[in-house]
Amino acid sequence: MKNAAMFKKEDKVAAAVSGGKDSLSLLYFLNKHRYNPIAITIDEGIKGYRDETIAHVKKFCSDYDIPLHVFSFKGEYGFTLDEIKKRVKKPICSYCGVLRRDLLNKKGRELGCSKIAIGHNLDDEAQTVLMNFFRGEIFRMARSGPVTGIIRDPFLVPRAKPLRECPERENIIYALINKINYSDIECPYRGGAYRNSVRAILNPMEEKYPGSKFAALRTGDELANALRKNIKDKKPPRCAQCGEIAAGAMCKTCEILAELS
Ligand code: SF4
Repeated sequence: MKNAAMFKKEDKVAAAVSGGKDSLSLLYFLNKHRYNPIAITIDEGIKGYRDETIAHVKKFCSDYDIPLHVFSFKGEYGFTLDEIKKRVKKPICSYCGVLRRDLLNKKGRELGCSKIAIGHNLDDEAQTVLMNFFRGEIFRMARSGPVTGIIRDPFLVPRAKPLRECPERENIIYALINKINYSDIECPYRGGAYRNSVRAILNPMEEKYPGSKFAALRTGDELANALRKNIKDKKPPRCAQCGEIAAGAMCKTCEILAELS
């Protein structure tokens, strides 16, 4: 899908920006091509990591005169991710991912955005296809694609991924050519991420059989299209606790907050 089809002229676009190469390249690209983006940064509260990456975002947004909104887990949920890590046994990335997606969606909606652009590259997307496959996440698979979501609902801001066909290495080159000062510090919790195991399968496959990542992406898109035909008429249920969209009786965020209380 071309970017022109991903965004409409009247879209108010927020870029989700972490301060790494992909998200700052995305923001640079959207700004350069006059999508007039605003930036949203989520501060999960990861000491020694997020403070530094946010400093890069602030400098970039100030240099390019892009409005920036920073929201924190602590401010919104009452816990930093470091604090959550001390209280739970399951992999921390699953908590981080749910809360970050929830906060991005809520704040994007409150700011009146019609699209949230995220900097997922080809590697991220191909990994996600395999992760959904290995975990049997059929509904996640159906929601994926260049613009996420099955049903348009005022509670959900669709997420667009303009860089999803750009291999990670090309994003690095793009950032270097355009002198984008990104942070290359890595999250201290990255080692435990499920994604790492999938990356370790996919990268050697790409080395041996070039084009494997594109093939995985295309397969994921084909599957999503086929799955959407079967579930497109279903109305998404609401969380009994907060009223946001949920897969079951309660949304994942409320389940996490209940676990932490
Ligand atoms: Fe969150 Fe895990 Fe990513 Fe760290 S590696 S930012 S904990 S999802």
